[in-house]
Amino acid sequence: MIQILQEHLPNGSEAGSNSKTRGFISVPGTPVEMPFTFIHGAMPGKAMLITAGVHGGEYPCIETAIQLANEIDPSQVKGTILIIHPVNPAAFLARMQYYGPYDGKNLNRVFPGTATGTVSERIAYQVHLFQQAADFYLDLHGGDIHEGLVPFVIYSQLGGPELAEQSRLASALLGFPYVVGSVSENGSIGAAAKVGTPGFLAELGQCGRWNAGEVDQYKAAVLNVLRSFEVVPGEVQLHDVEFLEKMLVSTASVDGCWYPAVELDALVKKGQKLGEIRDFFGEVKASYVADSDGIVLYLVSSLAITTNDPLAAIGVLKEV
Ligand SMILES: [Zn+2]
Repeated sequence: MIQILQEHLPNGSEAGSNSKTRGFISVPGTPVEMPFTFIHGAMPGKAMLITAGVHGGEYPCIETAIQLANEIDPSQVKGTILIIHPVNPAAFLARMQYYGPYDGKNLNRVFPGTATGTVSERIAYQVHLFQQAADFYLDLHGGDIHEGLVPFVIYSQLGGPELAEQSRLASALLGFPYVVGSVSENGSIGAAAKVGTPGFLAELGQCGRWNAGEVDQYKAAVLNVLRSFEVVPGEVQLHDVEFLEKMLVSTASVDGCWYPAVELDALVKKGQKLGEIRDFFGEVKASYVADSDGIVLYLVSSLAITTNDPLAAIGVLKEV
């Protein structure tokens, strides 16, 4: 990690032990400057990478990362923590959902990126360099400006069973109610898993809002994970969480107005109506049902919906 940082962080070479370095990481070939804090612990240990704001409208995670960057004391740290807060500052300032303003791409759909691609692809590539140097990767998300959700955690199953198991157990330490595995190829945690770095993508907060209570919960959750790697001192809290079989996402087949028929965190039955899309005259254009029994993990909260947008996700309960 230290060597990668020395090559890719401004002032990285000055980051001796028991120090905190802050500044901006320039993404080559783009106008993007990612704010970062690099905490070099007083003692040797694991290299942790924390990113927040891959999606610019997910506020609790971004404020969590800003506060952690300020509050973690390097004299108490074993190893290193690189925090990027946020990864996508232009999307944050533009108050954009899902996408970045330079190329209209969803950053979490272009990993591992490329050094010669569009702006989002180059950001992904830069983050992927740090993923490769990290022992563990925490990617902090939440419901976007137009999404409601119940807190949950996704880990990647792409790096083989041993890596997936390490990620699954660490995911549970956040204490969010649901944990689910993913085989997504182009997301942040999938790219990390494929180069041997375990991690997770956490989801807390929703609908373009944030508050101190959510941020405190998010910070405590992240610190609990850092404790489990002995990067920060203290006792690890164990939590009872529900491990889900998989997540099924329904997507919109037409543009129009979205009317959900279920509530967040509700237990739904296979075939139960999730909602419908109507046109501007109130005529139903499409109707959507649950493909399996499960829990409603997230729901789009905006009336507006466009074709191919996610509508709702069902977390399928494990057979017992
Ligand atoms: Zn997100």
